[in-house]
Amino acid sequence: MTTPPFEPVSDRDVELVTAMLGRPARDVIGIPARCVCGNPTVVATKPRLGDGTPFPTLYYLCHPGATAAISTLEANGVMAEMTELLASDDDLRRRYHDAHDAYLADREGIEHVAEIAHVTAGGMPERVKCLHALAGHALSAGPGVNPLGDLAVERSSWSPDVCRCGDYLGEAAGDDAATGAPGETAASSAPLEAG
Ligand SMILES: [Zn+2]
Repeated sequence: MTTPPFEPVSDRDVELVTAMLGRPARDVIGIPARCVCGNPTVVATKPRLGDGTPFPTLYYLCHPGATAAISTLEANGVMAEMTELLASDDDLRRRYHDAHDAYLADREGIEHVAEIAHVTAGGMPERVKCLHALAGHALSAGPGVNPLGDLAVERSSWSPDVCRCGDYLGEAAGDDAATGAPGETAASSAPLEAG
């Protein structure tokens, strides 16, 4: 996990993100979070795209397994739960505001874009509108920065510590090691959590 400045992005990273998103990944400036196998989990995009469009979502969750797991949370009413939590917990509300400020500071450190100077993602700083954006921030900044993003990752069935990646670039064909889906071993050996 990392916040700016990001390490240089490889061609392979861009190919992987493109395959994961199912559309060309443009204006990629970093891979702030990765699966244990090294595949991108979150992609960082220029605050102003090459075509001039402002792009507030610096931390975009791109991993198909992670996005699916977070979508399940959204479908199960977790955003409403978090909204209630925010309303009843002053400390949580303050920390969520701090997460918004941290997000802005990260993006401002890359480039100031006037149109989105006070805009972050996911509904921050006062609402809960997209758990993918909050989880993307939490996975990049690390635990303790975005409390609702942390909670979303924790509640989801996906973990950054267990690889369940697919063969996004179609590399397994003809491979000696084609004895099962990549990540199968890690997934099947994952410790079962009680409760
Ligand atoms: Zn993986």
